[in-house]
Amino acid sequence: FIIPEFETFSKEIEEIYWKCKSNTEGKVASYIPQLARTNPDYWGVSICTVDGQRFSLGDVNVPFTLQSCSKPLTYAIALDQLGEDVVHHYVGQEPSGRNFNELILDYNKKPHNPMINAGAILVCALLKTLVKPEMTLAEKFDFTMNYFERLAGGEDLGFNNAIFLSEREAADRNYALGFYMREHKCYPEKTSFRECMDFYFQCCSMETSCDIVSVMAATLANGGICPLTEEKVLGPESVRNVLSLMHSCGMYDYSGQFAFKVGLPAKSGVCGGLLVVIPNVMGICTWSPSLDALGNSCRGVQFCEELVKKFNFHRYDNL
Ligand code: GLN
Repeated sequence: FIIPEFETFSKEIEEIYWKCKSNTEGKVASYIPQLARTNPDYWGVSICTVDGQRFSLGDVNVPFTLQSCSKPLTYAIALDQLGEDVVHHYVGQEPSGRNFNELILDYNKKPHNPMINAGAILVCALLKTLVKPEMTLAEKFDFTMNYFERLAGGEDLGFNNAIFLSEREAADRNYALGFYMREHKCYPEKTSFRECMDFYFQCCSMETSCDIVSVMAATLANGGICPLTEEKVLGPESVRNVLSLMHSCGMYDYSGQFAFKVGLPAKSGVCGGLLVVIPNVMGICTWSPSLDALGNSCRGVQFCEELVKKFNFHRYDNL
């Protein structure tokens, strides 16, 4: 086993869990009513190792929408289907140093990276327009959900239609980003703007739980092979690229500090989810809806910081 004393390890995780539970800082996202109504008390932690050992504590089966946690996943599919050269012809690899939905492109007039809204909208356009272009939007939705499910070891994902509709209604900024990119001819030819935006909102509105996301994280930790099914869902080159950009860009404007303090690739979402990867060891998902001023889950960030205090999981701990 990769973690030989898994029970002892789980006990330590449990201690960190309770420590973080007493943290009541932050506020739930409020830009749409469906998220504003979320109970801020939810707190779940799930772990899945690359050899399939699992440990879960708290609200690990309560559904929440992926939101920005879908961004590394859609990026992974695009890389796997199109290759790095095609994807990065359209989107950069640089942290933007600005808010995740800031109206800004890089000096090549490309979105800075796939982990912020502009980049993720662009990745959705690539998936829709260049990957199996004959598929309708309905088929592409199923195709993508099926990929997500295989990353999760075959678990069924849900779709939250109320959140999807609400996201689409309250999306002035995302439309602005979309149009700004269209103005600068960022999309591949033949992109349907409306379908691309809808597809982005749909990816944000796919519904999972802590337990399920930890398996997705574990598949990434395991180089693209799901530890539960042994299926090769993604190639290792794609996973390497995804983890690199999660490391530098996955935590909004806290990404640099997170890379410094925690030293692990991670991606957060406004839902309060946090997908964390310890390469070759395990995937972790934490979920707590209260967000700090930068948009990361307060308890999630605290959990990661406590975790690397206790274990040498930081990328540069083993020097
Ligand atoms: N649906 C959100 C948006 O596009 C997702 C952003 C996020 O999770 N940070 O604004």
